[in-house]
Amino acid sequence: MTVTTPRACVMGFPVAHSRSPILHAYWLETLGIAGTYERHEVSVADFPGFLHRLPERGYVGGNVTVPHKEAAFREVEQRDAAAQAIGAVNTVWLEGGRLVGSNTDAYGFVAHLESSAPRWTEVVRQAVVLGAGGAARAIAHGLTGRGVRVALVNRTLIRAEQLAAHSGRLASAHPYDDLPHLLADADLLVNATSLGMTGKAPLQVDIGPLKRAAIVYDIVYVPLQTPLLAAAKARGHPTVDGLGMLLHQAVPGFARWFGATPTVTPELRALIEQDIRRETGAA
Ligand code: NAP
Repeated sequence: MTVTTPRACVMGFPVAHSRSPILHAYWLETLGIAGTYERHEVSVADFPGFLHRLPERGYVGGNVTVPHKEAAFREVEQRDAAAQAIGAVNTVWLEGGRLVGSNTDAYGFVAHLESSAPRWTEVVRQAVVLGAGGAARAIAHGLTGRGVRVALVNRTLIRAEQLAAHSGRLASAHPYDDLPHLLADADLLVNATSLGMTGKAPLQVDIGPLKRAAIVYDIVYVPLQTPLLAAAKARGHPTVDGLGMLLHQAVPGFARWFGATPTVTPELRALIEQDIRRETGAA
């Protein structure tokens, strides 16, 4: 009998920054599974061919990262409900010889919110989400799916309007000028823009109108503590950082490829924090 070792990989361009190999290697080792998780830099032109040859290359599936998530959505033979709603695929696997795609960002966003603020569903009725890009799309899906009203605020208003139209009756679109009154009514504020990330402009938002009990969630995780989270902590808000979302979104893929559901542990978090600190030069 031939026993094959399950292999998965992450495909992106560039892909050197991806932390997925570290976290999947951690789970493989701690769960005692003889699998591998590799990294492949794949150009836009090569991506469709690479994806379709995954089984030929001996892979059971993998993650898809920037800039291939929309192409993966088009290329897979079957999409689950989350991928369908979000319009992008970040996780693929083989099912009966067919390539299936999912998007686990909404799951990761909600799972981390649940673990950081377990009673959030009792208190969050209205959220303000800054941004209308790929991440905001997943978050709008995750929140509206839990019955939360979502005000999408974006620099390019038309993108927020398109996303709101796609996200259903619980979503609305607004310019930044509306923020003060939107924040006054919000139970949750999410930064889903790239602002505040190391190397990008800071996010300049006055969180003064927020209620003290409002949760502040920044999905940017480099640096670990963004200026938004620091300002929210200083005002006594419950805060949720972006690293947990990254860790939780990896769980469903691992379970598909390797047949065991892994856990997001403090030890895993510390491992990735160490890697981020190495990148940012923070102590
Ligand atoms: P994206 O599709 O490129 O969207 C970027 C968003 O940021 C857009 O809404 C854009 O507004 C806004 N933005 C960029 N520069 C701006 C500026 N100067 N002023 C105002 N708004 C600005 O990116 P994405 O994939 O959604 O990712 C967004 C961030 O989330 C990134 O930092 C990414 O690393 C992070 N992320 C984290 C996780 C996690 O697991 N924690 C997962 C996914 C993404 P316009 O529409 O006006 O351009």
